[in-house]
Amino acid sequence: MQRTLVIETLQKIGEKVTLCGWVDSKRDHGKVTFVDLRDRTGKIQAVGIGGKLSELTTESVIEITGPINARGEKSINPNLPTGTVEIFVEDYKILNKAVELPILVEGDGHDVNEEMRLKYRYLDLRRERMQKIVRLRSKFYQALREQLEKKDFVEVETPMLTKSTKEGARDFIVPSRFNPGKFYALPQSPQQYKQLLMTAGVENYYQFARCIRDEDLRADRGFEFTQLDLEMSFVTQEELMAHVEEIVKNAIKKVGGKLQNETFPVIPYTEAIAKYGADKFDMRSEEEKKDGTLAFAWVVSFPFFKKVDKKDIAEVRDGKSGWTFTHNPFSRPVPESAEDHKNGQNIENIVTAQYDLVCNGFEAGGGSIRAHDPEVLKQTFKIMGYSDEEIQSSVGHMLEAFKLGTPPHGGIALGLDRLVMLLAGETSIKETIAFPMSSSGKTAIMDAPSEVSAEQLKELGIKIA
Ligand code: ASP
Repeated sequence: MQRTLVIETLQKIGEKVTLCGWVDSKRDHGKVTFVDLRDRTGKIQAVGIGGKLSELTTESVIEITGPINARGEKSINPNLPTGTVEIFVEDYKILNKAVELPILVEGDGHDVNEEMRLKYRYLDLRRERMQKIVRLRSKFYQALREQLEKKDFVEVETPMLTKSTKEGARDFIVPSRFNPGKFYALPQSPQQYKQLLMTAGVENYYQFARCIRDEDLRADRGFEFTQLDLEMSFVTQEELMAHVEEIVKNAIKKVGGKLQNETFPVIPYTEAIAKYGADKFDMRSEEEKKDGTLAFAWVVSFPFFKKVDKKDIAEVRDGKSGWTFTHNPFSRPVPESAEDHKNGQNIENIVTAQYDLVCNGFEAGGGSIRAHDPEVLKQTFKIMGYSDEEIQSSVGHMLEAFKLGTPPHGGIALGLDRLVMLLAGETSIKETIAFPMSSSGKTAIMDAPSEVSAEQLKELGIKIA
């Protein structure tokens, strides 16, 4: 079989072709049955006479063979890109018959309940809105990659089974069969590995990184997300921000996004709080909100430390002294705060070389210039109340690398689910993830977490309390 795509039929009038796809809809008029056949490129009307097509059910997968005919003046459908043609069915096959559907595939799906949408995500993804988002996401990734390759970035994968990474959330832990009683942590980010790649001389690193954090779930957030993670050696904060701005700007334009500013404004944290009452804010006019404009800004000069929120277990664990980091413990203080940081004094006023990228009221990314001097990194953990032994056991490997020729470096991570959400004009990141988790932490379709067998537990040396 040589398959023709629906969109190609416009050039095939008078030719006999074979089309494959789904039954989008069916209209039975007795002698003649019309079916709209849908593939990834669009829909076309198929005409079956003498009972042909009449048995078909919606969303079945079929193959149709027959000539493409120009439609008569009166039967042209101006709403369909292929509305001037149709396929006359000589022969057809049912490749997979669909039974009654548990959810509707037509429409935007907003009225279908979340549990059902996720349980039958493969049906949900068939709808036009979701197909567009899946493809937009892929195109955006390609556009970003293109920019990164141009700037000589190297894509490197980092481990998924690792040690706690200190992003301020709880870890997901994985028991080790070979070392009963010991556990891996899933990465909250590739933070430490990407810094170690700077020690390794990679200089410009990137990765489309999956990050896993055991945070409290919100309606629009699961435990997993994807970041464009990058790190550069020998750059100043301004240079790094300029590179990132260029990458983001060009990639967004490439997929048809509209930007408010050619140059992103840079706003100090205290000014943002005074002006907007928050460190993420929306700078768009009502008009711009309607036309899908993206309004980016940088926020800089954040406080390095904050008082531990006693209700936040992860913060309590990290901030043994009552102080914990606001963004990233691997950042360095700005030069003006170096003295206070070194002496562990005036802690609430220490400023970190952190920069956040905000867009339309959301945090779209964040990063920093790092402490590559082992004494500076050590001091950050001291301020948080870590003993020498605790520092050694949690970041001893970093301190060691920082004594073996580590260049000054800095990086950022951009939240890709969120950026795609903003580009697509959606309001939940779940709409941009093919198989997101439900609000109660269940995986789409497969219903995890679930029990494991007694045998598996035994092998791991685990008893359920
Ligand atoms: N690791 C940080 C995060 O995931 C980003 C960075 O500082 O590069 O938020």
